[in-house]
Amino acid sequence: MREACDLVVIGAGPGGLAAASIAAEAGLSVLVLDQQSQPGGQVWRGEARKRENRLARRWLDRFAASGARFRPGARVVAAPEPGLLLVEEGSASVAVRYGRAVLATGARERFLPFPGWTLPGVLGVSGLQVLVKDGLPVRGKRVVLAGTGPLLLAAAATLQRHGAEVLFLAEQAPAARHWGFALQLWRHPGKLLQGAALAAGLVSVPTSTDAWVLAAEGEARVERVRLSVRGHEETLSCDYLGASYGLVPNLELAKLLGCEVASGAVVVDERLETRVKGVHAVGELLGIGGVDQALVTGELVGHVVAGKPVSSELERAWRAVRTFAELLARHDAPRDELRRLATPQTLVCRCEDVPLQALEGCRDLREARLYARLGMGACQGRTCGAAVETLFGWSGEDVRPPCLPARIGSLRLPSPSPHTRAS
Ligand SMILES: Cc1cc2nc3c(=O)[nH]c(=O)nc-3n(C[C@H](O)[C@H](O)[C@H](O)COP(=O)(O)OP(=O)(O)OC[C@H]3O[C@@H](n4cnc5c(N)ncnc54)[C@H](O)[C@@H]3O)c2cc1C
Repeated sequence: MREACDLVVIGAGPGGLAAASIAAEAGLSVLVLDQQSQPGGQVWRGEARKRENRLARRWLDRFAASGARFRPGARVVAAPEPGLLLVEEGSASVAVRYGRAVLATGARERFLPFPGWTLPGVLGVSGLQVLVKDGLPVRGKRVVLAGTGPLLLAAAATLQRHGAEVLFLAEQAPAARHWGFALQLWRHPGKLLQGAALAAGLVSVPTSTDAWVLAAEGEARVERVRLSVRGHEETLSCDYLGASYGLVPNLELAKLLGCEVASGAVVVDERLETRVKGVHAVGELLGIGGVDQALVTGELVGHVVAGKPVSSELERAWRAVRTFAELLARHDAPRDELRRLATPQTLVCRCEDVPLQALEGCRDLREARLYARLGMGACQGRTCGAAVETLFGWSGEDVRPPCLPARIGSLRLPSPSPHTRAS
């Protein structure tokens, strides 16, 4: 099947929804692709059904009324030439011709390996939150959360709301860095209020800065977790451990399209256009900044692609979210101790069972792939890539198609349908 549009938006999180709605309202033919079954992205997952979050409801309704077309379950896997994407949809494939593109592919969690991190019951902090939002029952379950930044509080609040007993929140940042960050929040009143509301709901949960997981232990699944808490070792029995250290942008598609990436984010100009003409980037791709950044950048690009003026208010909001993203990046930067937790036997690549000791002598990601099969499995380095970048400073390689595991048939240009041929 073939599709054509003025603007293709990849990712239906807040960033993609805002850009698509504004462009479609201005009369552009807009196609939104997302591998999920519903719009909303990571933060508004399930809101199309639940409709609990007012902001999400507002944007989802605006998107539905905007005239933009949405293709759920659509995974962009290749970009064989400028202006053309190959998309896998279940057992079918679609070729999408576009005039302009907005990349809104969001972020994923950063995992750093520690002994026991592959035991059942050990998940990412936000991954656990997502599973709970999607129905994983946690009522009465004892949960320890270890990581960094505001997402730790957001996950704890969700778990508590669903009846879990959150035993401990371990924030890796040193106290001075953490409280320095908190003191800067007066410049971002929305974030301050959000943080204060979350923290107020969690007063009964023991929390510590300078705290991180040393090891998860158990037979068939996690039974207890050993933590370093301000220089002392503590052990807690638990049913679940959520452990991850911040987020990293999903850069594969941007790299596939040839966009420049620097310091872990897509390089853009003041109109959020990447170095590839006609391709824009929004949201977490610009550096982790959360839902506010996604909305502001999505709105800004929506105006740009629709040829509408960008208000000074929107430009001010963009500068403010950018400052917050820089503040967050400094806060969330993993501390050195986290780089030394894995033992020689600890698996670094869990798809291909590659232990740390197998990487001895490798000088970069390419050698680790060639000699040890790191990143060669089902997730194609999505988990271990960010881990070895933090552990050894190995930066990500260029991306070759497909950027997601795909069927061979999805990499072939579909033949024109009779309808397309006639037109
Ligand atoms: C697991 C997880 C949970 C989170 N939970 C929260 C939370 O509870 N609260 C909070 O404030 N923030 C949360 N965040 C942070 C969140 O990333 C941002 O706040 C916000 O969602 C960013 O919006 P976005 O539009 O940039 O990207 P996202 O909302 O991440 O949306 C990106 C979309 O792109 C799609 N996509 C990616 N690659 C492709 C592809 N190749 N083909 C097709 N579709 C693709 C994805 O399916 C996804 O729907 C979470 C992040 C993660 C990783």
